[in-house]
Amino acid sequence: MRGTAERALGVHRVLEPAGVLPQAARRLDPDPAVGPDEVRISVQRLNLDAASFRQLSEACDGDGEAVRAAVLEIVRTRGKMQNPVTGSGGMLIGVVDAVGPESPLGLAVGQRVATLVSLTLTPLRIADGLAHWDGLSEQVPAEGSAILFARSIAAVLPDDLPDAVSLAVLDVCGAPAATARVVERAGATSVVVIGAAGKSGCLSLAAARAAGATELTGLVRTDAEAAALTSAGLADRVVVADATDPLAVAAAVGTPADVTVVCVDVSGAEHGAVLATADGGTVVFFSMATSFPAAALGAEGMAADVTMLVGNGYTPGHAALALDLYRSEPGVRALIDPRVTQ
Ligand code: NAP
Repeated sequence: MRGTAERALGVHRVLEPAGVLPQAARRLDPDPAVGPDEVRISVQRLNLDAASFRQLSEACDGDGEAVRAAVLEIVRTRGKMQNPVTGSGGMLIGVVDAVGPESPLGLAVGQRVATLVSLTLTPLRIADGLAHWDGLSEQVPAEGSAILFARSIAAVLPDDLPDAVSLAVLDVCGAPAATARVVERAGATSVVVIGAAGKSGCLSLAAARAAGATELTGLVRTDAEAAALTSAGLADRVVVADATDPLAVAAAVGTPADVTVVCVDVSGAEHGAVLATADGGTVVFFSMATSFPAAALGAEGMAADVTMLVGNGYTPGHAALALDLYRSEPGVRALIDPRVTQ
């Protein structure tokens, strides 16, 4: 058996290539038999991350049956749900149904939980052929088993919210936490959120406000989203532009902000985000569709002195912060609820 530290990271579940961590693996072992330090979850629902779902849906021309077949094939061949094109995954909810005697996670059989580690590193077996999913939405009713390692994290699902809402909010809970941290540390006053009417976007606006920012701009793509965001009351200013058109973004934003948070689910938003940010400011790239070369070379090419952060999905306290923002901000609920299939 491997060393405790390696097992805690799940290295013993990697089938190929040898020596990598589970997130980088092509294939994991999804055997439902739990090791002494593992926890097994009886899966109820997956949440595919937005960039992954959009890519699958576009590749299948919106054909739900084809999307479902593609997801089944990915999980069957990889032992996890990691979109090979976007590299991203999502997370899941379910019920704890086995706990190894040495698991340090503090979970008990019967608890309803959301995994807060990505599906890209979670051993997963699907047992029902996703028969109850039409392939048309990010949330996937599913039966099967998933494995948590000693270093995984999971949150017990709150009783006061519908599971589908908790799943949607927890999937993006890293965004408001990262935004709050950056705003607080920098003492930032102005914040631009790109893709502001989406789930991570509206939570980031609310987190920026709570962290002390006073000039909040929400950038959205359509007039309909602009109307929804304006009525949600989360931003001081709502502007409309295509996030993938850097000059349009710069024109719409006007004076660059201290902090820009990228929450779109499409690629090509890097240059607009850099132009939207003041010298000495910070860009948080939460979007999984972000390109490191596009961001780094773009900023260099514009001689933009901005700090660029990869939106880490984990920040201590991120789950509680996001759920509290959902509970306390009617505007967040107004934007998230219509996006959630309950
Ligand atoms: P979401 O709810 O679908 O929101 C995305 C928003 O971006 C939508 O309002 C969408 O508008 C808007 N948008 C798309 N294309 C645009 C464009 N060209 N210009 C302006 N706005 C545009 O997505 P989400 O769940 O918040 O996820 C957002 C991103 O976070 C995704 O890339 C996802 O993969 C990523 N993510 C990252 C982590 C992490 O740990 N870093 C974790 C989870 C998710 P429409 O609705 O009109 O298309």
